[in-house]
Amino acid sequence: MEIEIATIGGYEEVGRQMTAVRAGDDIVIFDMGLNLSKVLIHDNIRTEGMHSLDLIDMGAIPDDRIMSDLEGDVQAIVPTHGHLDHIGAISKLAHRYDAPIIASPFTLELVKGELEEEGKFDADNDLIAMDPGETTSIGDSGVLDLEFVNVTHSIVDAINPVLHTPEGAVVYGLDKRMDHTPVIGDPIDMERFREIGREGEGVLCYIEDCTNANKKGRTPSESVAREHLRDVLYSMEDYDGGIVATTFSSHIARVKSLIEFARDIGRQPILLGRSMETYSGTAKQIGIDFPSDVEMVGYRQSIEQTFERIMNEGKENFLPVVTGHQGEPRATLTRMGRGETPYELEDGDKVVFSARVIPEPTNEGQRYQAEKLLRMQGARIYDDIHVSGHLCQEGHYEMLDALQPEHVIPAHQNMSGFSGYVDLATNQGYKLGRDLHVTSNGNIIELV
Ligand SMILES: [Zn+2]
Repeated sequence: MEIEIATIGGYEEVGRQMTAVRAGDDIVIFDMGLNLSKVLIHDNIRTEGMHSLDLIDMGAIPDDRIMSDLEGDVQAIVPTHGHLDHIGAISKLAHRYDAPIIASPFTLELVKGELEEEGKFDADNDLIAMDPGETTSIGDSGVLDLEFVNVTHSIVDAINPVLHTPEGAVVYGLDKRMDHTPVIGDPIDMERFREIGREGEGVLCYIEDCTNANKKGRTPSESVAREHLRDVLYSMEDYDGGIVATTFSSHIARVKSLIEFARDIGRQPILLGRSMETYSGTAKQIGIDFPSDVEMVGYRQSIEQTFERIMNEGKENFLPVVTGHQGEPRATLTRMGRGETPYELEDGDKVVFSARVIPEPTNEGQRYQAEKLLRMQGARIYDDIHVSGHLCQEGHYEMLDALQPEHVIPAHQNMSGFSGYVDLATNQGYKLGRDLHVTSNGNIIELV
C-alpha cells in the first residue's frame, strides 16, 4: 500500500497545524489550525467573515491547495485537541471535504463552537465524538484503523491519533508532555505507545511536536505548577486587599487549581472574560472534573457590573480569574491596568500570572506594556507560575524509545526550532534525508 504524508501547515512555525496521511485510496487529515500571531498583528481583524484564500495569503491558516496532489478521498478530519493552532481553521477549510470530523468530546464541543461562530462558510461535516483509547475503522478498504491514544497537554482531552495501516502505524504526536500525575484526566498512555511500537509492522512514521526540542531535560507535570500556585496563593492568605489571577482560558486544569486555592484562602473565585466562559463552560457542560458551582461572566457589561459588586462588597472577599495573561490589548486584565474597569487596584494588590509569555515579539511587547500599567497602579506581580505543555528533549528520547519508528518527521516549529530534534534523532541513528525528514509547509513525503 502506498503511504504518503503531506506536510501542509505548522512545519515552518508554531501555528496553523495541518498534516494529511494518504494510505492507498484513503486520506486522513490531522489538525486544521490557525496561526494566531498572523491575525493579531493586524489590529481589529475579525476572521469570522473572512474568506479562506485571504487567510491563506496572510499565512493565518494552512494552504491546503496541495491536497489536490494527493490521489485519494478524505475519510476523516481529526483534530488532536482544542487549541486554536489545531482547530482554528476547521471553520474555514472543513467544508471543502466530504468527511466527518472525529475528535475527543471536549475538542469536538470546541469545534462546534468554532463552526457556530463562523460567518462566511457553512460546514456541514458530521461531528463524531470518540474517547481516548478507542479505535474506529477508516474508509472502505477494511484495513485502516484510527486509534486515539490518551496523552497529556495543557488542555484536557488531548489525544495522539494513530492511523494503523498494513505498512505499519503512522503516529501523529502533536501536542503533548509526559504527565504521570495530571490534575485532570488520566496519565499519558505510554504503555500503549510501547505496544504500538512492538506489535504488527511496528511504527512506520512518527510526526513529533518539536515546540521545546531545543530544551534539555524533562517537562514537569501539571501537579508541579499546581503546587507552585498553591504556595503563591497560600502566601497571600492574610492579605486584605485585591488579588487578581490570570491564565490560559483553555487550561482547564489550571483554572480548576485557581478556583480551589481561592476558596482555600477564603475568597470567592469568579471567572471573567468571554474565553474563560467558553472553555470553562464547555468543561462543565460535558462533565469534566471541574467545580460546577463557580461563577462565570462573559460579556463586557456583566463584567463591569461584577467589578462594581466586588468593589461594593470588598475586594478582599474575591479572587477574579481574568483573561489577559499575554497582555492582549482588549483583555480584561489589560483594561484593569489601564483603569478602564470599576475594579480599583491599590498599592500592594497582587496580580498572579499563571502563564508564561509566549516568546513572540507582539506578545512580548503587549505583555510588557500591560505589566507596566499594572505596576504603575501599585500592583505586585507574581510571574511565570506555569509548566509547558510540550515535551523537552528527554521526552522526545523516551518517545523514540517507545515507538521505535522507521521514519520521523519533526513538526510544530520552524527550522531553527527543529535543530535540537535533528541532533537528538541523529544521535539515535536516524539520518537526515533517509529516515529523518526535515521539511517545510506544502511538501509530500513518499514513505512507501
Ligand atoms: Zn496545543
